[in-house]
Amino acid sequence: MIYKRSSELFANAKKVIPGGVNSPVRAFKAVGGDPIFIKKAKGAYIYDEDGNKYIDYINSWGPLILGHAHKPVVDAVIEKAKNGTSFGTPTEIETKIAELAVEMVPNIDKIRMVNSGTEACMSAVRLARGFTGKEKIIKFAGCYHGHSDSFLIQAGSGAMTFGTPNSPGVTQGTAKDTLLASYNDLENVKQLIENNRDQIACIIIEPVAGNMGCVPPKKGFLEGLRRLCNETGILLIFDEVMTGFRLAAGGVQERLGVNADIICFGKVIGGGLPVGAFAARKEIMDYLAPIGPVYQAGTLSGNPLAMAAGLAMLTELHKNPKIFESIDKKTEYLHQGIEKALKKNQVPHTINREGSMISVHFSEEPVTDFDSSAKAALNGIFNKFFHGMLEHGIYIAPSAFETWFISEALSYKDLDKTISAVGKVAKLL
Ligand SMILES: *Cc1c(COP(=O)(O)O)cnc(C)c1O
Repeated sequence: MIYKRSSELFANAKKVIPGGVNSPVRAFKAVGGDPIFIKKAKGAYIYDEDGNKYIDYINSWGPLILGHAHKPVVDAVIEKAKNGTSFGTPTEIETKIAELAVEMVPNIDKIRMVNSGTEACMSAVRLARGFTGKEKIIKFAGCYHGHSDSFLIQAGSGAMTFGTPNSPGVTQGTAKDTLLASYNDLENVKQLIENNRDQIACIIIEPVAGNMGCVPPKKGFLEGLRRLCNETGILLIFDEVMTGFRLAAGGVQERLGVNADIICFGKVIGGGLPVGAFAARKEIMDYLAPIGPVYQAGTLSGNPLAMAAGLAMLTELHKNPKIFESIDKKTEYLHQGIEKALKKNQVPHTINREGSMISVHFSEEPVTDFDSSAKAALNGIFNKFFHGMLEHGIYIAPSAFETWFISEALSYKDLDKTISAVGKVAKLL
């Protein structure tokens, strides 16, 4: 494939945009080479500036569960735009999408809209702190909750009690309030709670992790967190920015039957426009301004175009609940196909999957937390795999730590093409 125009556009972009991208994951830094500039997309396919076509497994990093340029979503945005793009006043459509979200998601009474998943998680933690009057939070290594300061904390040795910032600009003062736990390790969480008695506002977690590859919770892990929170008055926050309206209409709460106190949304809820949201039962949400003391705001929050896209998306999912079954089946088919192709070519691998989230790791060790995911990513095979797949017209995320997002627009023919590409690329690994 020729990527000439993409490379030229990237060279221009680098002069005026840091690293040439507006979000680091878009650069091909981890896998090498220049990123591909996309010109347009439809259904399961994206087309780059050189005219190459790819089957897309990123789907804008999750939002496009029904594929690109889905007609009801595009039509809703176009219609809405004709009447103005933003008013800074309440609009009826905000209540419509809130009503639908509250109907689809178990265990929530009220929801507030923001503009990104980052904002949703940041606001959820502030609300938890305000509501409980406690300052510390527990997060898990390998879980991503957006780029706000409290979350950019990672494990270093001895970081069992106090996290250390993993980005300059995050202060020690912020870092000391973020306690770091290991995913799927309930004992670890118990220990942290005991060592910080009566100081912890919330535990925030990706209930099915998707930012260290796909790492599902072990049986009993989420239930254990729920029990610990019940015993201590700590609030449990499910960051469902990735899993919400994807793993089920009601997200992980519905799929795995564990309730959280606050739920964060993003990605699918915006139908491909910039939207995030957080939701909880009434007494927690009523702690927010203007009726409660916890301040949270946004000039463009609940923006009519974003709400039109989100409402059209949620309406489609609500009307056709079979979509969730259908994408789960497609993902299972892909899983089995890839497994067979890698086995046949004796490529060591572990495939993790939950619903329509799947990740391929080039190691035989189980991937159950950040350490095992990082270990599996260090053998360098992924980069060859990524570029090989790209050459065959299959676009997966340019990082060994990312989940593949399956969309309903993918046909079984697309999946077969993908599996056959894996077989060809596996020969070169
Ligand atoms: C993507 C993501 C975020 C951040 O959302 P943005 O819209 O990129 O700010 C937060 N949490 C999880 C689990 C995510 O996958």
